[in-house]
Amino acid sequence: MHTRTLTVDDFIEQSLTLRTFGEGRPRVLVTGGIHGGEATGVFVADRLVQQLTASPPVHGQVSVLSLCNPTAFRRMQRACPFDELDLNRSFPGQPDGSPSLVLAHLITQEAKAADYIIDLHCCGVYGRSYTLALHQEFGFAREFAAMMSIPVIVQSGGTRGQLFVEACHQGIPAIILELTGGGSGGEVSLEAADEALAAILGFFRQAGLLPGPAARPSPSFYGKLMPVIPSASGWFIPQLVAGALLEEGQPIGTVDGQEVRSPVAGIATMVGPASYAFRGPVALVAPRLP
Ligand SMILES: [Zn+2]
Repeated sequence: MHTRTLTVDDFIEQSLTLRTFGEGRPRVLVTGGIHGGEATGVFVADRLVQQLTASPPVHGQVSVLSLCNPTAFRRMQRACPFDELDLNRSFPGQPDGSPSLVLAHLITQEAKAADYIIDLHCCGVYGRSYTLALHQEFGFAREFAAMMSIPVIVQSGGTRGQLFVEACHQGIPAIILELTGGGSGGEVSLEAADEALAAILGFFRQAGLLPGPAARPSPSFYGKLMPVIPSASGWFIPQLVAGALLEEGQPIGTVDGQEVRSPVAGIATMVGPASYAFRGPVALVAPRLP
């Protein structure tokens, strides 16, 4: 392993640690903590570093930036506290911009050299992990996502400025793994972390980076996430949990006794807890594709 320090800002002494294992192609970049409040992703990246330290790649190279947004992580919040920008809307960044733009610029330099990018995020403590990909636009993104053993692949909305979106537009296969966990308490889902680590190591075996049997997973592709918003505010009582398969019109829960139904057939990627719902989403559903 070799380690490099990328200096972001000398005044606040912010820097990133890039750890690289192996050499040659393919080159994989794994990033965690682009959103500071998404601790499961950082945890998975750190576990991956441990794993690769013990068993480095036999072919090709893996670079890991476990923590891409250290000051946001220190606050367990999404945005960098020094400029309040969302780093995952700031790519490709600027070398002479505010801290988030410099972070994006430094990460972009590493991303440009990659053949594959796996960006680790969280979909909330009430979410069920999924792979997020531009699978409808880019065949290479679809193929890459299909190599992940996380069973659900969701179509991204494609908002520009995200690391994986900008990379795909440059022709580099890139995905997000959205993992259960995250939030101001720094919650980590150990179960989601195990699932994500197995998916990443499984991909490494399929790509020849690690030895061992390379089973091809068969995840299912879904459309863009749709919020489920009750027609009036009130007390939401869920009737199922994230990961549930839904038929169109199936009840997800009730708000003050009125059923809240899924607008489409698909899978619930998030179902909120019993709580007072103020006309915001109480669940997210990824539609089944025809
Ligand atoms: Zn995120």
